[in-house]
Amino acid sequence: MMEREVHTARLLARRSFSGSPLDFHLEFEALDLDRFDFLPGQFLSILSERARPDGRIKQETRAYSLASPPNGNRFDLCLNRVPRTENGAGFFSNLLCDLPIGDTIAFHGPHGDFVLRQPLSDCLLLGHHTGIAPLRSMLLHLFAPDGEGRSCGKHFHLLHTTETESALLYREQFERMAGEFQNLHYLPMIEVGRPESKPEIVNGAASARLLAEIATLLAAQPAIQTAYICGLNAMVAPVRARLKELGWDRKQIVFERYD
Ligand SMILES: Cc1cc2nc3c(=O)[nH]c(=O)nc-3n(C[C@H](O)[C@H](O)[C@H](O)COP(=O)(O)OP(=O)(O)OC[C@H]3O[C@@H](n4cnc5c(N)ncnc54)[C@H](O)[C@@H]3O)c2cc1C
Repeated sequence: MMEREVHTARLLARRSFSGSPLDFHLEFEALDLDRFDFLPGQFLSILSERARPDGRIKQETRAYSLASPPNGNRFDLCLNRVPRTENGAGFFSNLLCDLPIGDTIAFHGPHGDFVLRQPLSDCLLLGHHTGIAPLRSMLLHLFAPDGEGRSCGKHFHLLHTTETESALLYREQFERMAGEFQNLHYLPMIEVGRPESKPEIVNGAASARLLAEIATLLAAQPAIQTAYICGLNAMVAPVRARLKELGWDRKQIVFERYD
């Protein structure tokens, strides 16, 4: 098997969203690369060693979508804590959420094919919770101050679903961008019936309301030809099935599953 080149990056900054201890925006700088080149929407794989109960060391790897557009040797990640359980779940997300500023991570990448399809067409960008990360990378690239014309005048409909109001990550930024660009449409959606009192439980399932909302949007905007979907499979699978019921070809549906 081909050896993957492992790089090092230092955590420069971290901020939570709406003061929540569950969701974080992290900013890194690659230390051994002048430029970290990737396509908006791709992810990197982060490595860490973990001691097993029997004392042996196991190498753990998890994927994280790049939440920023290419920017020299800097990159952003966006992640949520997965609750820790007795059988060891939640190891990596908690490690990263609690990583001290100035500490380093080992990673390889970029990887993945969750990238904008060319030529661009009007599209639906659907992300659940931290599934917004690769979509943010795409939109910041398309609507960059120095990127005039990159969006080719196509319409981008960003539908961000979350369980709670506080998990509408980057809301102000998207609202600002949608106010500035006529062809960017921001549609935040809080799933009804999810308790704000238990925000650590993220199951990301697509509700009947979400599926209906998508059908309504596509009927009103027939020029939408591509859908980019990112989140847990409980959301991704039913949305893909619904789009196929609506007559979409699988090539029109680009998706990234977090589990
Ligand atoms: C291509 C790709 C890109 C990804 N990008 C991101 C990202 O940008 N941000 C991010 O937060 N996560 C992302 N993930 C998920 C991430 O890799 C880890 O799976 C997640 O952080 C949980 O790791 P863990 O060790 O804490 O928990 P684990 O013990 O590995 O997982 C525990 C359980 O949590 C589920 N799970 C996985 N991801 C999530 C999640 N985000 N929310 C709730 N439950 C989850 C798993 O299905 C599993 O059942 C991505 C996954 C893939 C495959």
